[in-house]
Amino acid sequence: MNGKTPQFDRALDEYLSGLELDEKGGQWRTCRFSKEKFYVRPEDINFYKKVCVPLPTLKPNERRRRRVASQNSYNLFKNTSAFSGKRIITVYQPGSPYKVYEHEIWRSDEWDPMDYGSEYTTSSSFFEQFHKLQLEVPRTSLIGDPSNVDSEYTNVSKNLKNCYIVFDQNGGEDLYYHQCCADDKNCLNCWALDYSDTCYECKLSKRLYKCFFCEQCRNCMEDYFLWDCRNCEYCFMSSNLRNKKYYFRNEYVGKEKYEKRMKDIYLGDYTKLQLLIREFEELKTKAPRKPFWNEKVENVYGDFIYNSKNVYMGLYVENSENIAYAEGGDDSADCYDINGGTGNELCYEFSNIWTGNSYNCKFSLNIENCSDVEYSDFCRDCEHCFGCVGLKNKEFCIFNKQYSEEEYWNKVDEVKTKMLADGEYGEFFPPEYAVFPYRLTVATSFLGFRDYGTAAKYGYDTALVEESVEETGGEKVNVSELPSDIRDVKDDILEKVIFDEKNSKSFRIIKPELEFCRRYGLPLSREHPSIRMQKWREGFEINLMFYKRTCDRCNKDIETSYAPERKETVYCEQCYQAEVV
Ligand SMILES: [Zn+2]
Repeated sequence: MNGKTPQFDRALDEYLSGLELDEKGGQWRTCRFSKEKFYVRPEDINFYKKVCVPLPTLKPNERRRRRVASQNSYNLFKNTSAFSGKRIITVYQPGSPYKVYEHEIWRSDEWDPMDYGSEYTTSSSFFEQFHKLQLEVPRTSLIGDPSNVDSEYTNVSKNLKNCYIVFDQNGGEDLYYHQCCADDKNCLNCWALDYSDTCYECKLSKRLYKCFFCEQCRNCMEDYFLWDCRNCEYCFMSSNLRNKKYYFRNEYVGKEKYEKRMKDIYLGDYTKLQLLIREFEELKTKAPRKPFWNEKVENVYGDFIYNSKNVYMGLYVENSENIAYAEGGDDSADCYDINGGTGNELCYEFSNIWTGNSYNCKFSLNIENCSDVEYSDFCRDCEHCFGCVGLKNKEFCIFNKQYSEEEYWNKVDEVKTKMLADGEYGEFFPPEYAVFPYRLTVATSFLGFRDYGTAAKYGYDTALVEESVEETGGEKVNVSELPSDIRDVKDDILEKVIFDEKNSKSFRIIKPELEFCRRYGLPLSREHPSIRMQKWREGFEINLMFYKRTCDRCNKDIETSYAPERKETVYCEQCYQAEVV
């Protein structure tokens, strides 16, 4: 408590001292949405006291759903700029009630968010008034960055050059249909790669060079269909290898034999390739995996956590400590309930894909480099702001209106006290005021939150949304009519509209894609790019669920993110280590 909001501090104190805690110092609560019980741990309560908020009213997964349902990272539309009337690429669907400016204009000084300032009134709820402000203040077409060059069809990305349909990427060149994470080049159809070059259909790997269909690998080069390998070169269709060369179907064959066998492997024919893909799927299912993919961690409970300590219920957290109920997040400390973001400290209920460096901020969307900011949306370089939208480099503002320092604290004290009494303070923005229709959001991009009926019950807008960018013009070819062998594909394919019959979506083959496939002997993809990308994400859940299972080797009880009914082979840590060669 900073002493500047005495009324609020008193009211919160009263609330916190009146909490009935169990003998451990925690509390069982009932989720306001699901009506299920959830436990607030003693250390959670300490955190809530530290950041001066009441206890949550939703269970961790419903809080998470509410945050991920506030972002659309992966669906692009053609729409019209409310600034210039020009056609723009944007994450806002046609018919969206928000005013959308091209991101270059949105970042510029050509408009002033303070023009939309309004006075807080006690006659309607805070959330209702905030939503009105969101409808008025222009929004950025994309989470683009001025550092991107020739990469118009990308979102939530920076430092890109010549990229097309790329999401969540920091740094990259010549990437096509690529998502996550950093510093890749010359890749096609890849997901979650770092520092990799010349890859195709590779996933969740780091430092790969010339790899094709490799997953969960590190420091590998010139490999095909590898699963969970480290420091391997010239290997084919193998798993769980460490520091190996010339392995063919998990058997060492030596250089000569390897090269001879590889001569018989041809990936350029779509039909033949499907057999290898099927073989690889089987290999992945049979290969032992650890209960969690964590590395270099101390005291963590969650999955895909790297180089971090004291993480509870986390997914995809890196280089962080004292984090709970978080998904994504890098270089962060003392944060609860965050999604994405880098370099945040002491933050709570934060959905900040691709932004960061904030301190002591709460209940906000996409705010960057801010401190002491609450209930704000797309603000940058701000300090002491409350309920603001689109501000840049401001302090002491409420609803985009400037106050003196003294007026500000008095007003914030009044607003927060009223919100606390109304049950609004402590809650992230409610589902009914989400900026995007539910089906476009990150919540449904991964597995876990596709229970549309349930979501509708909680207030999310689950209506179907019109299709995004449709390709027209040019002769139409069904994917089933594409030549099976890349060597039979003619240049005029670039002029045609390809119709993916199975998914009723049309797309074009782009020139760099055709060149890549020809150079490395790969067939053209048969699926619309959005379906390809959606499929990779579907391998991953984003709800915080961990399960009891037994080790498939020694039958010891383990906890894992693989549900018991899943067919993957999951070993306890010891058995896994014994199996890796
Ligand atoms: Zn075991």
